[in-house]
Amino acid sequence: MTTTLTLTQGDITRESADAIVNAANSSLLGGGGVDGAIHRRGGPAILDECRRLRASHHCRGLPAGQAVATTAGNLDAQWVIHTVGPVWSPTEDRSELLASCYRESLRVADELGARTVAFPAISTGVYRWPMEDAARIAVESVRGTSTDVDEVRFVLFDDRAYEVFARRLG
Ligand code: ADP
Repeated sequence: MTTTLTLTQGDITRESADAIVNAANSSLLGGGGVDGAIHRRGGPAILDECRRLRASHHCRGLPAGQAVATTAGNLDAQWVIHTVGPVWSPTEDRSELLASCYRESLRVADELGARTVAFPAISTGVYRWPMEDAARIAVESVRGTSTDVDEVRFVLFDDRAYEVFARRLG
């Protein structure tokens, strides 16, 4: 089974895919950036399910590098896969945690039976991961993961992020 990696520029909440990945924070209760956009457009059903996860399996929140799925509410997708990126550190190498976000999201996608999965550039916003390095880790992690997903689509919000990912994929 081969997985095709594709690129799109724009707002991930406008994408149509089986699963849309959210760069969440460990509270799972919403935030800014992609997270805020997904909850705004997806509606309250997503937050309701996140709250239920916090009340059951994930009472301490979701650790960095892990992933969990909920409904996608009003988004054009069946599921949102929430994953928590690491905060960039200049003194500590957290690359393995960022790679784990991509691997774990694909593992959850396989469990769900999702065939198309849209990813944002995890950790490159509020969590400040440098785009070049984040793109390298994203592409290497997806290419290095054995999955039944047919298409992994990176959805980049701005021109610069798109160009950095395009160079890395090229
Ligand atoms: P993190 O906390 O993991 O850094 P952010 O949401 O702050 O997450 O940013 C991750 C990346 O997502 C950034 O590159 C940001 O520009 C981008 N981004 C923000 N909003 C959207 C959106 N609606 N669709 C796609 N990407 C987005």
